[in-house]
Amino acid sequence: MTDQPSINSVSEGMGLEIFDGAQGRQRRPRPALTHREAAREIPVFSETDVLVIGGGPSGTSAAVAAAKLGADVTLVERYNHLGGLSTGGLVIWIDRMSDWSGTQVISGFARDVFDRLPKEAVLGPPRSEWGSKDAAITDYWSYRSAAFQGVVTWSPTIDPEALKTLSMQMMVENKIRLVLHALAVEPIMDGNVMTGAIFESKEGRQAIRAKVVIDTTGDADMLARAGAKSDSDIDTSDIHHCINTAFMLGGVDMERWTEFRRTNSAGFADFMKRGRDRLKFFEKPFFSWRSDIGLFMGPRLSGYSAIDVEDLTEVELKSRQLAVKHLEIYRTEAPGFENAFLLLGAPQVGVRHSRRFAAERMVTRKQWDEGTVWDDEVGVSTSLAPKWKNISVPYGSLLPSGLEGALGAGRHVACDASSHTFLREVPQCWMTGQAAGVAGALAANAGIAPRRVEPRAIQRELLRQGAYLSPSIVAAAEPTASAAE
Ligand SMILES: Cc1cc2nc3c(=O)[nH]c(=O)nc-3n(C[C@H](O)[C@H](O)[C@H](O)COP(=O)(O)OP(=O)(O)OC[C@H]3O[C@@H](n4cnc5c(N)ncnc54)[C@H](O)[C@@H]3O)c2cc1C
Repeated sequence: MTDQPSINSVSEGMGLEIFDGAQGRQRRPRPALTHREAAREIPVFSETDVLVIGGGPSGTSAAVAAAKLGADVTLVERYNHLGGLSTGGLVIWIDRMSDWSGTQVISGFARDVFDRLPKEAVLGPPRSEWGSKDAAITDYWSYRSAAFQGVVTWSPTIDPEALKTLSMQMMVENKIRLVLHALAVEPIMDGNVMTGAIFESKEGRQAIRAKVVIDTTGDADMLARAGAKSDSDIDTSDIHHCINTAFMLGGVDMERWTEFRRTNSAGFADFMKRGRDRLKFFEKPFFSWRSDIGLFMGPRLSGYSAIDVEDLTEVELKSRQLAVKHLEIYRTEAPGFENAFLLLGAPQVGVRHSRRFAAERMVTRKQWDEGTVWDDEVGVSTSLAPKWKNISVPYGSLLPSGLEGALGAGRHVACDASSHTFLREVPQCWMTGQAAGVAGALAANAGIAPRRVEPRAIQRELLRQGAYLSPSIVAAAEPTASAAE
């Protein structure tokens, strides 16, 4: 059986779960009461140029990009590691950075990461194979997450611990003030200008004052609490509304499992059907960076809100139950899984979507067909299928409507629900994060609002940092350099 993912499941394989709404769950009623919190003086922890809140893919790239411009940067992260879902969420399949012709369009920070990760921490096709349509090569990589629609793409799987280590190293090298175990809880506002944030830690409640705040929480926590409008509509034909906690099974033989899938399509289909009959939500494993570890980025649940604490709790309970049952079924029935054990349940819940903040400009489905290249482009994404051109991402989509002093990047970037399908992916989060970091530092350094930063200045700095932009934008941003070529 071939496993070319459908357009709707291009990054996460086959088997869309049906959106099943609230599923009629019972929850205990909450009392219709409020509690008045006392006002109090709290210590100022620090004053900084650029405050980045959330150390996932978008936050780490934002912090590094801003620091490269000499800004004093503080990064606040609620957990003990960096990388967000790409490490703690076990989303170790870093989706497409190359376009359908094999050109690496998500570069800059993304390229720096892969230039530096140890070789043994990465499983992916060599550069010479990106864009290849050779049947044997695509067949090989289609089982290892790096060929879609008959084209080999640069979408490797990685060792999450190696990325955690590298991310920390980057903080140290760039003299970024890293504050771990710190949950940002409230923006500090001066009218509609965000001037910092309050965070909670074991020390209690403290404030950080900043010239520019970049929200990279994935859920637009700070922007929402500052009153920014957001969209939360979903594309029910896609999986971007699904939520689950991923897990890895160790002690497996993925080569044997893959051989079974390739050579016994009826057996594979029958196995998957039996699993679905027993569990309803049943997943197949993805190749990780090692053949003795199988990655499960599901089972995908739906109808839950990622910003509702009781839903999050229920997702953890169900995900855990399903992980244990998967282990049971795979151990007894799946070739290569006889000695499997539950290696790790992800430390971070896998949220694909909660809020997308509203902005004046954004990528929409209409743009895919029109092939728009925004004059304020700050990045280029691969499209979902070869029939569409690359997708130009505007600076305007990082500027929340009605708010000043703040930028947003990563999973909650402004876009429509269909475009969120790919703009939420790890490389795209690196890309918007890097752009936000550059813009934030330029604003802080010049003492102006992020909205007033010249897009050309951002583009020039992004190019200097190795990012990819559309050829027409490169020519406009660097006319002399282009003319000399
Ligand atoms: C199950 C699943 C499968 C996926 N599959 C793929 C795939 O195959 N390929 C791919 O490229 N992408 C995939 N994605 C998408 C991708 O992982 C995420 O969209 C991406 O990691 C988002 O990056 P981010 O920086 O915006 O947010 P996150 O990765 O969520 O990082 C946000 C960080 O902010 C921290 N934070 C949040 N709130 C606060 C706060 N208030 N104070 C302090 N810190 C805070 C969090 O702890 C976290 O570290 C998948 C996602 C899921 C859930």
